[in-house]
Amino acid sequence: MATQEEFEPVIGLEVHAQLSTNSKIFCGCKASYGEPPNSLTCPVCLGLPGALPVLNKQAVEFAMRMVLAVGGTIQKRSAFARKNYFYPDLPKGYQISQYDRPLGEGGEIRYRLQDGEERVCRLIRIHIEEDAGKSLHPEHGENFTRVDFNRCGTPLLEIVSGAEMQSPEEAYNYLISLKQILQYLDICSGDMEKGQLRCDANVSVRPVGQKEFSTRTEVKNMNSFKGVQRALRFEIDRQVKLLKSGEEVQQATLLWDEKRQAAQVMRSKEESHDYRYFPEPDLVNLVISDDWIERTRQCLPEMPVARATRFVNQYGIREYDAEVLTDSKSLADYFEEVMAHFDDGQVAANWIQTELLGFLRESGQDINECPFKPQQLADLLARVTSGELSGKIAKSVFADMARTGQDAAVIIRERGLTQISDESMLLAIVEKVLSANQKNVEQYRAGKTGLLNSFIGQVMKATDGQANPHLVSQLLKRKLEE
Ligand code: ZN
Ligand code: MN
Repeated sequence: MATQEEFEPVIGLEVHAQLSTNSKIFCGCKASYGEPPNSLTCPVCLGLPGALPVLNKQAVEFAMRMVLAVGGTIQKRSAFARKNYFYPDLPKGYQISQYDRPLGEGGEIRYRLQDGEERVCRLIRIHIEEDAGKSLHPEHGENFTRVDFNRCGTPLLEIVSGAEMQSPEEAYNYLISLKQILQYLDICSGDMEKGQLRCDANVSVRPVGQKEFSTRTEVKNMNSFKGVQRALRFEIDRQVKLLKSGEEVQQATLLWDEKRQAAQVMRSKEESHDYRYFPEPDLVNLVISDDWIERTRQCLPEMPVARATRFVNQYGIREYDAEVLTDSKSLADYFEEVMAHFDDGQVAANWIQTELLGFLRESGQDINECPFKPQQLADLLARVTSGELSGKIAKSVFADMARTGQDAAVIIRERGLTQISDESMLLAIVEKVLSANQKNVEQYRAGKTGLLNSFIGQVMKATDGQANPHLVSQLLKRKLEE
């Protein structure tokens, strides 16, 4: 009988990304999340008889950006199609999508695995379509379901990968990379918890060495990146168990239940003919000129790799640091905002990576939720480089800023934290430290100059870290070399 290791998973992902246009894809309604239910609707997105769709140019432009950014081909003539299915949150009874003539074909997503190895997953297609509404299922003993049509007609980008990924970890890293691209392109905020990014996964397992794909299932309803990873692990295990016990995997759609950490079969999977696709009669073909493609290409924003290179050149920071800082667009923006008010790139890079990211990790916050502004951090750092604050004191001021969001100046004043730069005061402490360490003083004078740091450390300790370390070092040297 085959063991777990004798099977390999094959994973393909279908990602739906909500495009952050102002209005919906086929009408003028505002596309927005969190508004009162059914407040953003009109005859078009409610599918009332006689209402006709008008394509949102911005949605097309956003989709073009994505296709270009991943190296895909924009089809100069693509077409819309009706995907028919019945669901209470789909008032028209069909979704306007693209079928046999999608806007984009090909392209690839590059991502790194945990061990740093780079992988490439090819894309099959990228198309645009409209989102459905949202059913709000009963809670607290209610016995009815409500429907909110606000989301109807929100533009979506559907990004379909090849079945090329071989582990849940790969799928996770693919998604992280995809989100990074969408955010850099400024076309989707990429929050899976808010449904701005949704992912369906196709999974099958096959004996190692087998070329053909086995029967696959589709797993839906994951609402976090880690959730996708967990759902895939679950489904792979389930399929391997079935195959090992001599049973067959049935083609099906499964719903992931995050609370129960299990996926349940929702329905046997539809084939595309179940959707009775046909060309959308209310929309002409989407024709895109070479000129428009070229203009869009010219306007593509700076992507992470290019931005990292620029950070190295412009701010003089290390390559590794530039990579970390450009990992997310918001973090890179934060760093550049700090640099608009501060001039030592490496100091800023170090502080952001150790102190700021450390704080955010601990508090479970996102950089966008950072309690103080980049300008406030720049102000704190300027006080370090000018010698007003020692590094140690600055870190404790930083901790207070993180807790309260207050300016460094306020914290310093309230806590009386200014650095001691009074020479006569420091000299007295220096002398005390030296006379208490006669042996080390002799060794220093005999050539063990590395002991200087231990003297500095003791003076800093004696002043609760408030002594100006530069001045302390000068005074010590002067005394030691007398
Ligand atoms: Zn509308
Ligand atoms: Mn779709």
